[in-house]
Amino acid sequence: MTPHHATPSVYFDNAATTPLDPEVLDAMLPFLKEHFGNPSSIHGHGRKVRAAIENARKTIAHLIGAAPAEISFTSGGTEADNYAAFGSIRTLGLKHAITSKLEHHAVLHTLEALEKLGEIELSFVRFDEQGKLDLEHLDELLGTHTRSFVSLMHANNEIGNLNDIEAIGQLCRQHGAIFHTDTVQTMGHYRHDVRQLQNHFLVGSAHKFHGPKGSGFLYTASGLQVQPLIHGGAQERNVRAGTENVYGIVGLAKALEIAYRDMAEHQRYIQGLKDRFIEKLRAEIEDVQFNGLSADAEQSLYTVLSVSLPPSEFNEMLLFNLDINRVSASGGSACTSGSNIGSHVLTALGCDPQRGAVRFSMSKYNTAEEVDYAVEQLAKMYRPQIARMH
Ligand code: PLP
Repeated sequence: MTPHHATPSVYFDNAATTPLDPEVLDAMLPFLKEHFGNPSSIHGHGRKVRAAIENARKTIAHLIGAAPAEISFTSGGTEADNYAAFGSIRTLGLKHAITSKLEHHAVLHTLEALEKLGEIELSFVRFDEQGKLDLEHLDELLGTHTRSFVSLMHANNEIGNLNDIEAIGQLCRQHGAIFHTDTVQTMGHYRHDVRQLQNHFLVGSAHKFHGPKGSGFLYTASGLQVQPLIHGGAQERNVRAGTENVYGIVGLAKALEIAYRDMAEHQRYIQGLKDRFIEKLRAEIEDVQFNGLSADAEQSLYTVLSVSLPPSEFNEMLLFNLDINRVSASGGSACTSGSNIGSHVLTALGCDPQRGAVRFSMSKYNTAEEVDYAVEQLAKMYRPQIARMH
């Protein structure tokens, strides 16, 4: 059912990755076919490619209100998160970090690694049963150390909750803390302006907004110089050595440009799909619920809907059954704490182990028909069960 494939199939896993936009591919192709020079070479072949990288840097900087020198290219969101954490903690000698158990593993495991190395003390901000962060607790935690590193995401990749990063940033400024926000799920979906946010770090990953995989960036506020994690040549101002992923960088900038250009239209369209999903699920499945703030249009990412399904024999095979019916979604059983297959986010929220969980995440390429089809597949599983119970 997606426009790209002959075999009907429905892709609702856009928070995991998105299909490449053909316009992005067109921008990348000359750098795969013709312009092969090494950007560090000073001859014509190299200069041509260097210019493309610096143009991409300028494009991204302009879109987020930064200076080009504040943008470093990385292999994606995970590496950028690692740079923000390792880089600033080590460079500034910070001894305390604050995050939440709802963060992506790219942040959580990175800070846990620093804690294990004995470099920091790690604190976790409390949140309520819907995953709303307790900012009074954050204020308290910030008061325990002279200067902390704070990493709290803009939007949660599993439940879609949007955190108030302006308010968090303000608290961090009051306490002189360094503030990193993982914007992997919102970059290209919301307008970010670092002049307004005034945070220290921000990240983007191209494959989450119809760009290529393996290409991302880190924004580092001027005045902060992070230490390299990868040592070698002088690329990326000595911070990130290695020959640049040229076509990835070109694709990243093009994808972000398109995302900003069409943002209002796509936001309206995708929010419409999400509203339809919620409405149809409520009509078709008794006792359907939504995890976190997922069903709240004001407080959640418009691309993500995290569905909580009633206790059923189908819950264990939920994603498998959807897959058999050609619907790609994700989720992971909710309460399998101690195992790697469960969702650490749903587990941290204290979810009901009897209920099923599935995340549908949408993009500009999805259609209303696909929403109806996916709901119908779920209804086929859950309708007879409900009927039997009555
Ligand atoms: N942070 C968040 C919130 C994410 O959703 C993801 C990807 O799923 C990442 C970080 C990691 O990004 P990447 O796949 O580019 O390494």
